[in-house]
Amino acid sequence: MNVLVIEDERKLADAIVRILTDAGYNAEATYDGQSGLTYAESGLYDLIVLDRMLPGMDGIELLRNLRHEKNSTPVLMLTARTSTEDKVEGLDAGADDYLTKPFESAEFLARVRALGRRQGAVILDEANFGDLTLDLNTHDLSCGTKSVHLSGKEFEVLKLLMSSTQRVVSKQDLLTRVWGTDGEASENSAEAYISFLRKKLNHINSKVQITTLRMLGYRLEMFDQE
Ligand code: CA
Repeated sequence: MNVLVIEDERKLADAIVRILTDAGYNAEATYDGQSGLTYAESGLYDLIVLDRMLPGMDGIELLRNLRHEKNSTPVLMLTARTSTEDKVEGLDAGADDYLTKPFESAEFLARVRALGRRQGAVILDEANFGDLTLDLNTHDLSCGTKSVHLSGKEFEVLKLLMSSTQRVVSKQDLLTRVWGTDGEASENSAEAYISFLRKKLNHINSKVQITTLRMLGYRLEMFDQE
């Protein structure tokens, strides 16, 4: 289960990621509302832990945007406030549950488990970036009317890139997350799969490209040729 944590207090955000990771979830944090919304919109997460007070776009506004776009990923909202009015505002905006800071990790994980059990009904089955749609069940990648099937590893690599569009994914990160720590993957395998994916993106006439940043890694970018 993939969990996105949107919390601007970095220490708390990182602590939550650690609690989730120790409990066996895949978790990553983003620290402001705008990038939080971008990540959340990718459709790659099974649960979002969302802080109420965020710089830029606050948690309520972010959640309203998300629900307005028909994104139904379960949201656990965190808040320092305890008043009933705030709680109602959060739930009205589309939060599925609510937790007041500070909280015990045991209670937090219990809420996460409860929301995770509900995910079957609401989980999204596609991820989007630029003109691309990736079907998470069939592994078909499409752009407009064209589509192409991705192999298991190609799918994993692209899914990772699509979930990290604000950031660069390092080659090492790619190897660890797609092949695991005990695999026989080398840097050449990562390069080979990136090269297969580039051919496929080209084949379906996508404007999305996988950019190589020297010494850093890879990133998806949308190129409008107008
Ligand atoms: Ca905050």
